[in-house]
Amino acid sequence: MNDTIAENLLRIKDRIANAAIAAGRSPGDIGLVAVSKTKPIEAVAAALAAGQTVFGENRVQEAGSKFPALRKQYDLSLHIIGGLQTNKARDAVRIADVIESLDRPKLADAIEAAIAREGRTPQLLVEVNTGSEPQKSGIGRAEADDFIVACKARFGPALIGLMCVPPHDEDPRPHFTWLADRAARHGLTTVSMGMSADFEIAIACGATLVRVGSAIFGSR
Ligand SMILES: *Cc1c(COP(=O)(O)O)cnc(C)c1O
Repeated sequence: MNDTIAENLLRIKDRIANAAIAAGRSPGDIGLVAVSKTKPIEAVAAALAAGQTVFGENRVQEAGSKFPALRKQYDLSLHIIGGLQTNKARDAVRIADVIESLDRPKLADAIEAAIAREGRTPQLLVEVNTGSEPQKSGIGRAEADDFIVACKARFGPALIGLMCVPPHDEDPRPHFTWLADRAARHGLTTVSMGMSADFEIAIACGATLVRVGSAIFGSR
């Protein structure tokens, strides 16, 4: 397993670099979030041993059962990338370096309160439901501008960017382009988009963070 994960990481980094160069961008401007959801702590440790330091989990409870132990041994950065319930906000603020799924005023309230109580401030991304899919988290496109402005006012420099997960069965390009354009308009420098199936397209459209799970850790 360890060899496979290390090899997969090398291959993905190579593909990221090639996609960046093809887009006239610098490979160093694109970060890789290794999405380890549902995978055991040993898989994360294998990726850490191979030099990967940034990880994504979509459930706070699962992240909390893996990462605090690993932090004692490794310098790492944990991103929460899944829809977040307000009653999990405090745990998320306690364990995460970045919360990528800030998507509604009630959650902003809960995160603000948690930051005050915990005395630590993760970086934040606003997630936009660019395809208006009812089952998905993310603020709607129509409400996004107002929400981003409100979050900037509230969280200041902790708000660093935007995130999206386009619909499964659509060309992701219009979604990626929209998100990158929105980030630029708001002066936000982090654009988190692209997964195993489409991260090269996301890089062509301006992603600065790609979130890759199955292509590193195997299918779930
Ligand atoms: C699971 C997940 C990913 C990674 O998906 P893969 O297709 O396995 O690369 C990326 N982003 C989010 C929000 C996810 O939930």
